[in-house]
Amino acid sequence: MEEMENSVIRLSHCQKNIFCFSVPERCPSCGDELRGSRLQEAPVSLPSPFTNGHKSSCCLLIAPAHNNLHRDFDGTSDLHTGISSTKGLVYNYTQSGVRRDQSGWERCVSVPLVRPDMFHLMDQWDQYLGRFSEGPMWDPVWHRFDEDNHNCFSFCLNFINSVLAVEGRSSLSRDAFTHNFILPRMRRVSKFTTLYQHIQRQQYYVVDGQEDRQ
Ligand SMILES: [Zn+2]
Repeated sequence: MEEMENSVIRLSHCQKNIFCFSVPERCPSCGDELRGSRLQEAPVSLPSPFTNGHKSSCCLLIAPAHNNLHRDFDGTSDLHTGISSTKGLVYNYTQSGVRRDQSGWERCVSVPLVRPDMFHLMDQWDQYLGRFSEGPMWDPVWHRFDEDNHNCFSFCLNFINSVLAVEGRSSLSRDAFTHNFILPRMRRVSKFTTLYQHIQRQQYYVVDGQEDRQ
């Protein structure tokens, strides 16, 4: 599996932004020597969109589906979603029912569902999640898993809605869930992955810098 273990750094030179894994000897745009010379700005490293789901707490997690672990996110590949407990145990619904994974979600996108000041919700979270997962909806004997209509997304969405209901807030539609929670993150992942692969092939990616930056 492509681990994407390098971090992407951005440096600015001659009004260009240069993305790379390490500072090149010469500026790929103007050819000036970079190493040893002082850059106008220190290189910054770009935050990766991926986190370790088992180190997350009370998050919606989005990962490539189990049957295509060896593919990277490309915006179209199947995604698998789950919800983390306060201790990073990942509840996710599959053909065989609700799984509680202690590993396998090391590289995914996480969306925090609980604000850090919502202590009462955090205290109840694991109980809610456990109880919700034992419901008949998620028992494959009672209710069949269905790729399109009763799947890992339904599990997460229904759980989020049950928490919203407890909080006295209105529920999310499937469309709102996809558009607000999933797609913006996937676009970011897709951009980052494209940039990463470009650097892997070409060593750097150069774009015009913003005009207000030197
Ligand atoms: Zn330059």
